Amino acid sequence: MTARPFVSFVGAGPGDPELVTVKALRRLREADVVVHDRLIPAALLAEAPADAEIVDAGKAPGRHCMGQSEINWLLVDRARRRGRVIRLKGGDPTIFGRLAEEVEAVRAAGVDFEVVPGVTAATAAAARTGISLTARGHASMLVLVTGTDHRGHGVAALDWALLARADATLVFYMPVHGLEAITSALAAMGRDGRERAMVVERAGTLDERVVAGRLSDIAARCREARVGTPALLLVGPTVDAASVRAAVRHVTVDEV
Ligand code: SAH
Repeated sequence: MTARPFVSFVGAGPGDPELVTVKALRRLREADVVVHDRLIPAALLAEAPADAEIVDAGKAPGRHCMGQSEINWLLVDRARRRGRVIRLKGGDPTIFGRLAEEVEAVRAAGVDFEVVPGVTAATAAAARTGISLTARGHASMLVLVTGTDHRGHGVAALDWALLARADATLVFYMPVHGLEAITSALAAMGRDGRERAMVVERAGTLDERVVAGRLSDIAARCREARVGTPALLLVGPTVDAASVRAAVRHVTVDEV
């Protein structure tokens, strides 16, 4: 008998298969269908039953393997025909994951759903580099912000004055193509060019890399190091080169 149609939107974490919740694993082990993004660790997919259908809905930056409407349709179709659908998303499903569009499609079709949170890239990167994203007194605000506009090209239209607040830790998702523009806009709006900045590529995976520097030179350093996606840009009062150096092995640190 087919299970009741149900979609679980599950956070797969940043790439380390151990950084998932017990609930995520349980859902995967009971899946009839798994629809997953790019960069989902193979070890996680291997948790699904051998007879589960596994669909790679991965989207490379700038080109779509499977369109959003196709994914929406697939979730509803498979839930009705097969039962338990796991929509496995990188990091946390509620953060820059197009969750709203998929939830809307599932809800409109009258299919029940749940969201299982995951470790988002920002906290994975903070953990790996030993940085606290907030600190009493001097980092009282944490902003998770997209570095790319909704079409996936230019830098997003952002409230740069808000982002320039000195007590804010900024974590830019999808920053790589806009690094130069982002860092110069922050400096132009009043953040100190000498402020420490860091880019973490593939946080929580075996080929993780960290490039540390200053707001004024981090873009050039990343270009030199040929940093690619996925990566995060962190800027803020707690982004401290010394703790980064202590926490990670492959690191370029500005000694100024
Ligand atoms: N839902 C995801 C984010 C999806 S948007 C989450 O919660 O983490 C995709 C962007 O996330 C990437 O372009 C990159 O900026 C960031 N990202 C995802 N995984 C990452 C990782 N392992 N290391 C660094 N950045 C990562």
